[in-house]
Amino acid sequence: MNADRRIDGRAFAENLRARVTEETARIKAEHGLTPGLAAVLVGEDPASQVYVRNKNKQTIEAGMNSLGETLAVDTSEADLLATVEKLNADPAVHGILVQLPLPDQINPNAVIDAIEPAKDVDGFHLRNVGLLATGRGGMVPCTPLGCEMLLKERLGDLTGLNAVVVGRSNIVGKPMAQLLLGANCTVTIAHSRTADLPAVCREADILIAAVGRAQMIKGDWIKPGATVIDVGINRVPAEEEGKTRLVGDVAFDEAVEHAGAITPVPGGVGPMTIACLLRNTLVAACRQNNIDVPDI
Ligand code: NDP
Repeated sequence: MNADRRIDGRAFAENLRARVTEETARIKAEHGLTPGLAAVLVGEDPASQVYVRNKNKQTIEAGMNSLGETLAVDTSEADLLATVEKLNADPAVHGILVQLPLPDQINPNAVIDAIEPAKDVDGFHLRNVGLLATGRGGMVPCTPLGCEMLLKERLGDLTGLNAVVVGRSNIVGKPMAQLLLGANCTVTIAHSRTADLPAVCREADILIAAVGRAQMIKGDWIKPGATVIDVGINRVPAEEEGKTRLVGDVAFDEAVEHAGAITPVPGGVGPMTIACLLRNTLVAACRQNNIDVPDI
């Protein structure tokens, strides 16, 4: 395989984190401000614990304060809302994220609605969704933001390109489509009811896969030379008995024969998400303190 076809999200994310770390140190020195991120975890879901641990570690490595809270699995919605209110009011906290999924007794929408929009570093609050949809900035969800950065780094100007986003979730598919529209792509959003999905994908100069189905998108669905961004993270049985491995929503080995550029899984979009979370926290801290936002 031509190594240039592989989009190295790990390297890009490392570089982004280095820039965030540098700007964090500068803002600390010039303004005496240390950005603070509070990640709230409810329960003991193993995957969520790993994510939150990584977020905390990388927050500290970037020179920020990590002010997370872990609550018991039987925490009531009222108690979680009270925690969010406390963090909303805490001037040392500039970014708040509540790790999803939440236990059944808690309505995630009620929690997202309660987060102060200026501190909503996940970009899920209705206000931020509206700001993105109307092209007025706000906090942009981390995973789509990371995908957009990888695309712009590889392709430069995206104007006029046909983009197909497979998946219409509020956390990936829809905000991804908004970002691509904002970058002047012609955007199609596909989903589980889309007719002839392979044919729709074959029209894409940029193909974003955010489905959650292991290797669903096949090599011959890819327009020759297209740029493919695989958001999917799926755990499948590995060859070695009892072991598992991660794969994306795209059949990588086939797709790489057709694509001009493609993100691998792991090592593509995944590392970008936390890097963008740190970037959003820095941006949020600057905005809340009337400091010029660094261009990162
Ligand atoms: P959701 O389950 O919320 O959404 C999946 C979307 O895929 C839905 O819109 C669904 O359509 C669509 N879909 C499902 N089956 C098909 C099909 N057969 N054909 C076409 N479309 C289909 O998932 P998320 O958006 O939250 O996540 C998508 C993937 O991205 C997952 O693998 C997840 O693990 C990964 N992810 C990775 C992140 C990262 O940091 N790299 C962050 C977030 C997610 P419909 O609406 O019609 O049901």
